Amino acid sequence: MVLYSPGRTSSYPEEAVKEGLRFHYLGGGNEVGNVGCILEDATGTRLLLDYGLAPTDPPRYPNEAPKVTDCIITHSHIDHLGMAPWLASHHSTRLHGTALTGEIARPMWNDCYKVSRIEGYPLSWDKRDIDEAVDLWQAHGFDEKITFHNWKWRLLRAGHIPGAAMVNIETPTHRILFTGDFDTRDSGLVNGAEPVKCDILFIEGTYGGRSHPPKQHEQQRFLDRVTEVVGRGGTCLVPAFANGRTQDVLILLHKSGLNLNVHIDGMGKFLAKLYLEHPEYLRSSDDLEAALAWAKKVSSKSDRKKALDADVIITTSGMLDGGPSIWYVNRLRDNPENAILLTGYQARGSGGKKLLDQGKLPIFGTDTPIDLEVDQFTFSTHSGHDEIINFAQQCEAKHVVIYHADPVQARPPLVVALEAQGHTVHCPINGESYTIVD
Ligand SMILES: [Zn+2]
Ligand SMILES: [Zn+2]
Repeated sequence: MVLYSPGRTSSYPEEAVKEGLRFHYLGGGNEVGNVGCILEDATGTRLLLDYGLAPTDPPRYPNEAPKVTDCIITHSHIDHLGMAPWLASHHSTRLHGTALTGEIARPMWNDCYKVSRIEGYPLSWDKRDIDEAVDLWQAHGFDEKITFHNWKWRLLRAGHIPGAAMVNIETPTHRILFTGDFDTRDSGLVNGAEPVKCDILFIEGTYGGRSHPPKQHEQQRFLDRVTEVVGRGGTCLVPAFANGRTQDVLILLHKSGLNLNVHIDGMGKFLAKLYLEHPEYLRSSDDLEAALAWAKKVSSKSDRKKALDADVIITTSGMLDGGPSIWYVNRLRDNPENAILLTGYQARGSGGKKLLDQGKLPIFGTDTPIDLEVDQFTFSTHSGHDEIINFAQQCEAKHVVIYHADPVQARPPLVVALEAQGHTVHCPINGESYTIVD
């Protein structure tokens, strides 16, 4: 099924920009994920930043992009690059990002395609379009200076996950920083993002209004829980996102020094190997390499059966939506000594959310009661409320555009705090255009 029907034009305005900088969110302006943002100035220079889809149930897609010659992809999460194959096949758009993001892109697109087929969700691009997108990828290192018409731009470390970048753009009128998903705090995998002086700051506000618990405190709570479950003879099932969380949790367990038998399954083990091919994007490739060598990698059916006797199993899907994690739950659920330790956000409609709210999980199409202890831990690699506010202050941004934020819960507290700090705050709505002149 084609979502963007032939002949239908984009919501993007056809009029030229008269002065200053125009920004227009195709998606992600007033929601989390699904990001696509067009920047254009009076000289007609135009860039698209990210083009993703939100892997919710059902997925959300951004508005149709107008013709763009170049798109910068901040990082390899599907909500930032899921629609790039469409751009590649329809507009032959050059895709820019770090080398690591480019390498992870293909497995992410393959997985997205596979899920859309299994779940029966429409996707406006086809498997062949992935090849075109891969061919159109242009890799750039951090701080490499790129000239694009009369603009200059560069990628800067964003924290968050390996290879994730912020985009710093200089136009004749404005200095711009676009954070992508970012975290100023170090994680096991990556060092945190650093502020850059700018006139306009586009900042993701996922955690607006929420403060993260101190990282060490949360990590200790997790390790204590693992120790307790293993001590009583149980197995901890740790559902974790493949791209970042799996490896972060693995490093944490390895560094803890606990005597554990840890098995790792799902796409996360493959992505860990890709990370190791690009050590320049890691805080410590030695830490990841050692942790990966320490864990047992599940790569066959018999490995999977053996993993049922492990102390800890780390696997996808992180939201218990299919993948090996469901296979494991189905086999571990009869022994109440086992436990499920969730390590990430559980979206509405996800298996993990149902488990938390109703104690049930859809297993092979049937809602099944799960009588295991379930715990949730905050291992987020997005900046929390305080980090967002401090970052904007250190950037000395005149204008702050809040995006990638829930407009009801997360954005209002950010607006209050940012205005109190003296910034002019913008709250974009998808499909609307805004111009900043001063
Ligand atoms: Zn995101
Ligand atoms: Zn992300």
